[in-house]
Amino acid sequence: MNIVVEGKAFIKNKIQQVCIGIENGRISKIAKILPKGEENYRFKKEIILPAGIDIHVHFREPGFTYKEDFSTGTISAAFGGISCIFDMPNTKPPTVTKKTTLDKIELAKKKAYIDFGLYTGITDENFEKIEDIAKYCNAFKIYLGSSTNTLLLDEKNLKEFFTIIEESSDKPIMIHAEDEKCLNEHKKIERNLTDHLRARPDLCEVKAIQNILKYRNKKNKIHICHVSSADSIELLKNKKDKTSIGVTPHHVIFSKNIKKKTLPDSFYKVNPPLRTEFDVETLREHLTDGFIDILESDHSPHTYEEKNVDFDEAPSGLPGVETMYPIFLFWSRKNLLPLHRIVSLLCKKPAEILNIKKGEIAEGKDADLIIVDMKNIQKIKTETLHYKCEWTPYEGMRAIFPRYTFVRGKPVIEDYTLVGKKGYGKQVKNNKDEQEL
Ligand SMILES: [Zn+2]
Repeated sequence: MNIVVEGKAFIKNKIQQVCIGIENGRISKIAKILPKGEENYRFKKEIILPAGIDIHVHFREPGFTYKEDFSTGTISAAFGGISCIFDMPNTKPPTVTKKTTLDKIELAKKKAYIDFGLYTGITDENFEKIEDIAKYCNAFKIYLGSSTNTLLLDEKNLKEFFTIIEESSDKPIMIHAEDEKCLNEHKKIERNLTDHLRARPDLCEVKAIQNILKYRNKKNKIHICHVSSADSIELLKNKKDKTSIGVTPHHVIFSKNIKKKTLPDSFYKVNPPLRTEFDVETLREHLTDGFIDILESDHSPHTYEEKNVDFDEAPSGLPGVETMYPIFLFWSRKNLLPLHRIVSLLCKKPAEILNIKKGEIAEGKDADLIIVDMKNIQKIKTETLHYKCEWTPYEGMRAIFPRYTFVRGKPVIEDYTLVGKKGYGKQVKNNKDEQEL
């Protein structure tokens, strides 16, 4: 055994006192007692949880590295207890070909402190040639409606794409579900969050989800990103087989009427938009009852200057990869959401959806762990976060940050300090690809 981590760990839905033996980055043995390893960690007051997996980040590289890059993005993620991120394709150039996908993998390999996966975007131009790219990316991303720097797939090509994929690849398809035609019909000048919601009503989300459910094939693995409205949840009830649902922290924390606003409205401009209190309540209910599968940050940083403009001019998106797990750990402490749900939403289910060997403290999985002192509650402050954009919509909120973040058995964060190395992060392979190697 080269590493042994001992303490109270979250295993099979309960906290148990164990030793976790690690060999070559993987958990090789879990037992009450294990012989000493070459490196040994013993935690008494903290708990050991699986590290989080954030399946939805925009690390802005290549093309917009003044907003974020693979180094600052993965450092922020590690401080927030995340051991693996999946990066979205709306970069410059966009990740839509074999070359741009391979180039981005190379970039990320050189700079990442934690593991990563990549999405290739599906557009009206490339959807027929996707077989070529399928083996390099981890999954696909489709935008059915325009957001900031997005790539669109027309609704009429969706059905054909689903069929091509069914025949050629079992990789998941992540979808931004807002219907473009519907968005165009509602377009108007926007001055605040209420106008933004009027311009992107829940109707447009519902319309897009209806199309997905209508055109999808049985074998397609579909994930609907950032579901934000009660009506969408209603529509998905009873029709959810093989469709997974993600929600973001911001859609379960803020409605369009934000109570303690620390920044102007333009900073909270995001797509899908912040909705009503009823929508927020509905999403929270279904985080608890298990209907919602995962939490995804949709970390979409823009600089303070870019956001600090007239509402109508401001780009959409807000940062969140570093604060997601810590905010929900605080929720667990406050009994707002049980710990087993948080671990399922942030670790276990994301790993299942992306088909990777992470997200659980179990033999055979990567030794991706966080060590958390549940009594160490901190206030979120921009100065202590690690984003390039230097602002957070969660300023002043309480959170529990991990003391350690281990990625494949190595600490990237130790005693709340970065000790990881640039370039340590690897592209994750899905379980099937790994067997083929
Ligand atoms: Zn996104």
